[in-house]
Amino acid sequence: MSSKNDFSGKVALVTGGGSGIGRAVCQVLARDGARVSVCDINLKGAEETLGSLKNPSDHIALCMDVSNKEQVHDGLRVTQEKMKATPTLLVNCAGLGRPAPFLEMTEERFMHVINVNLKGTFLVSQAVCKAMLDRNEAKGGAVVNIASVTGKTGLANNSQYAASKGGVMAFTKSCAKELAKTGIKVNCIMPGPIRTPMLAFPQEIVDEFLSRNPLGRFGEPEEVAEMVAFLLSEKSNYFLGSCIEVTGGHDM
Ligand code: NAP
Repeated sequence: MSSKNDFSGKVALVTGGGSGIGRAVCQVLARDGARVSVCDINLKGAEETLGSLKNPSDHIALCMDVSNKEQVHDGLRVTQEKMKATPTLLVNCAGLGRPAPFLEMTEERFMHVINVNLKGTFLVSQAVCKAMLDRNEAKGGAVVNIASVTGKTGLANNSQYAASKGGVMAFTKSCAKELAKTGIKVNCIMPGPIRTPMLAFPQEIVDEFLSRNPLGRFGEPEEVAEMVAFLLSEKSNYFLGSCIEVTGGHDM
C-alpha cells in the first residue's frame, strides 16, 4: 500500500517519532518528500528513526517530552532554526498506557497518561499552530492526532488511557472548528491494535485482543501511517474534525 503524496518543500513535526506508529509516519512522510523533525522523549529511538529515513541529513531528531511546555517550545524553536522553516504538518503521536483497574488507579498514574496523551497533544498543537499563523503559513497546514478506538469503546483496566483518547477526539473536533477558516485542517485517527512495542502484552492478552478482531491480526504501523499521510495531504481537503478508524474491524 503506497500511494505517494507530494510533501516536497514541507516540514513535518512528528511526536513519538522514535518508535512504532510515529516511526512509520516519519518514514512515509520522508518517502513522500517532507523534511521531518523526529521528536520523542526517547532520543535514541528518534535517532534510530532518523537513520532509517530517506536522505537522513534532510531531517533532524530531537528529545522532546510533550507534557513539558518548555521542552515543546524548545523543540519547535530548534526545528525552525535547523530546518530554516516552520512545520506546517504536525502529527501528535506520542502516547503511552499505564494499565490498572480503575478502583486501584492512583492519581499519579491517572494524571501521567492524561498529561502525555491529552495535555501533550494540546501543548504541541497550540505551539505549532500559533507558529504557522504568526508566520502566515497556515494555508495548507494540517494536523493529525493519533487517538485510539478505545476513546470510543472504552477499555477495561485502561480507563485513563481510553479517557485521554476520547479527549483527543473531542479536542480534534474543537480545534478543527476554530481553525477551519485559517487554512489549517485538523483530523484524527482511531487505530485498533497495531503491532508496536506498546502492545508487547502477555500472550493470553494478545489472544483475547485477536479474538475480537475479524481479520484475526494486529495492524501494521505502516497501515496507520498511510492514513496519516492522506489526512495531511491535499487529497483530504474536505476532511475536517474527522476521526477515522483504522482497526481491521476491531470492536466494531
Ligand atoms: P510506541 O511504539 O510505544 O511509541 C510511542 C512513542 O512515544 C515511544 O517512543 C515513547 O517513548 C514516546 N513517548 C512516550 N511518552 C512521551 C512523551 N512524554 N513525550 C514524547 N514522546 C513520548 O507506541 P505506538 O503503538 O507506536 O503508539 C503511538 C500512538 O498510537 C500512541 O498515541 C498510542 O496511544 C496510539 N495507539 C496505539 C495503538 C497500538 O495498538 N499500538 C492503538 C491505538 C492507538 P518511550 O518508549 O520512551 O515511552
